[in-house]
Amino acid sequence: KVQVQTRSTRSTCPYCGVGCGVIIDSTGDDTSQGEIVGVRGDPDHPANFGRLCSKGSTLHLTATPLVRQTRRLLQPAWRPARGAAAEPLSWAQTHQQLAQRIAAVHAQHGPDAIGLYISGQLLTEDYQAFNKLARGLLGTNNIDSNSRLCMSSAVVGYKQSLGSDAPPTCYEDLDHTDCVFITGANPAWAHPILFRRLEAAKAKRPEMKIIVVDPRRTESADLADLHLQILPGTDVALCHGLLHACIWEGWLDRDFMAKHTEGASFDALKTLVRTMTPREAARICGIQEADLLKAARWFAESPATLSLYCQGLNQSTSGSAKNTALINLHLACGQIGRPGAGPFSLTGQPNAMGGREVGGMASLLPGHRDPNLADDRAEVARLWGVDALPATPGKTAVELFEAAAAGDIKVLWIACTNPAQSLPDQALVRRALERCELVILQEAFADTATAAYADVLLPAATWGEKEGTVTNSERRISRVRAAIAPPGEARPDWQIVRDVARLLEPMLKQAARPMFTYETAEDLWLEHRAATVGRDLDIGGLSYALLDQSGPQQWPFPAGAAQGAQRLYEDGHFATPNGRARFIAQPWKAPQDKLDARYPLSLTTGRLRDQWHGMSRSGVVPRLFGHEPAPTLRLHPQDLPLRGLKDGDLAQVSSRHGSLILPVQADADARPAQAYLPMHWGEEFVSGQDAQGRRLAGVNALTNKAFCPDSKQPELKFAAIQVQRV
Ligand code: SF4
Repeated sequence: KVQVQTRSTRSTCPYCGVGCGVIIDSTGDDTSQGEIVGVRGDPDHPANFGRLCSKGSTLHLTATPLVRQTRRLLQPAWRPARGAAAEPLSWAQTHQQLAQRIAAVHAQHGPDAIGLYISGQLLTEDYQAFNKLARGLLGTNNIDSNSRLCMSSAVVGYKQSLGSDAPPTCYEDLDHTDCVFITGANPAWAHPILFRRLEAAKAKRPEMKIIVVDPRRTESADLADLHLQILPGTDVALCHGLLHACIWEGWLDRDFMAKHTEGASFDALKTLVRTMTPREAARICGIQEADLLKAARWFAESPATLSLYCQGLNQSTSGSAKNTALINLHLACGQIGRPGAGPFSLTGQPNAMGGREVGGMASLLPGHRDPNLADDRAEVARLWGVDALPATPGKTAVELFEAAAAGDIKVLWIACTNPAQSLPDQALVRRALERCELVILQEAFADTATAAYADVLLPAATWGEKEGTVTNSERRISRVRAAIAPPGEARPDWQIVRDVARLLEPMLKQAARPMFTYETAEDLWLEHRAATVGRDLDIGGLSYALLDQSGPQQWPFPAGAAQGAQRLYEDGHFATPNGRARFIAQPWKAPQDKLDARYPLSLTTGRLRDQWHGMSRSGVVPRLFGHEPAPTLRLHPQDLPLRGLKDGDLAQVSSRHGSLILPVQADADARPAQAYLPMHWGEEFVSGQDAQGRRLAGVNALTNKAFCPDSKQPELKFAAIQVQRV
């Protein structure tokens, strides 16, 4: 009997923003053909204390030798022509050709003809390399992330109301709260380990109230004392109605407001919500007035109220207004800055937070700086040793692809994301990819929908194979560690960027000192750390060594601190210039896509319990299909016979943006005239077409690219559709 030596490596789950700690069991070592043979929850990680959900506990099955050899990109490759098979090329030749092609476009069309579209699943160190390449070397702010589809409305909400993009709460608040207000989120499926903690808290303290606001009756709603089944897109009306009730019932915390908020901003908000009576709000939302009043009383009068929210608020043309309307309630009722109280955005992706900290989005700069402010640009330029950072505003996710479709962006460098499935209005995205002169795809997995459009494929290392850090929803920075070496010629993302940048640098500018001297992931992290010092997210007191020794830590963690801040604003001082939080008065607006006789049903999208994003990772694990083996469009039972349909029938589902054919399923959890389609299914499962007959795939054939004017986050949660028997 042969004794196989295994070793254990502490790392972090690469799926959702809960950021659970994992222990990877592997054979071999990290420089040879090692093999990941198991994964366990890390009992010492404060996000999960050893627990893992179905996705986290099957991570080792996404890294089997078979998956690594058959589903991964293993070597750099170029297509001689669009549609032709990609031909392998060495890394050295690939770097050289890329640098030359990018430099040529830069010289002929200027820096803004280049766009980078990156990912909330990259590590902080990867983000740092991409951001410096875009802003510091290429001289463009055209860098955005798929976090634009995820948390950008939450960012704007926090900044407008509280002065900083910083979730003020922590997971432990679930153990202290008396009322949990879950809105636009289904944590039972999307943040399962956090939801287990909520279930445990409710079991221990049954008197704790749980309110769930969701157009669908979800598994999260099953735990609720009160489910407000609002009509899609009416969240702002609900919050304004709740605030109206609190004002006129005398449930405000006037003392807190007087000490810690801007009085004039409340006057404007009070005027705005005057007409949003509970009766009117209940009418708009399609709920009972009595339920709205009950929710208002629980929210205001509970000793501590905690809101949990996610894409139902964020993915909307009113995304920022929805966020600020909720935070208004917390401020008016003094439900913030205490254990168990505050607004808590649940991050969708594992490192959407880290990307925001690094400033790897068009609307951000490193250390929570603002690209629109000359002083902030100058500070970053000084930190990076470059003359200046570009001032022209960068294009956000949808805008990048609009510009590419218009021929203004010639080069798109896409990393760790699959826009040919995940962006709204797939007809536009595919036109954009076809029109670009050079599409660079840096990916771990070989068969994503975007790969078909790529001129060059760069094989990237992924979970279990790379080093760095991520930040989870509660501002906690965790280490990510390699257990085995990447397969084939795959490399960590930051190394790929560095090696192209080193060749590009002498072609584009003469910086005072070389810009891409990094030899390790830690080198990049230290550069990021320097940009946070003196800022609200100061991590000057942290180091890789401290994270290795003491485990994951929350920010801020300035030099000299013994530990990070568990929660923010406990002293009542907010991150605004005058230290006072602001009420934001934004009116309720209906979603941009309108229901009419031709498109009478509203479609909403969301996650399944056992799948992740476009399934490039979770889709290689057979057992994760046990819960939901194939896509179906869910409709209220009474909506099927109206269209001559029954369970399992194929239907044509059409919106103003495209159409799909897929089976329907009766679902009493939906309201009449509403449909639900999970976001995960791509080309292999659901195909369709646009008005010109262009092949489209997945739910985003149907969704609308319209976005919130403040956060630029598109309205993935609402599209007007029709459903017809085929
Ligand atoms: Fe991973 Fe999220 Fe599941 Fe935790 S809850 S194991 S982070 S997918």
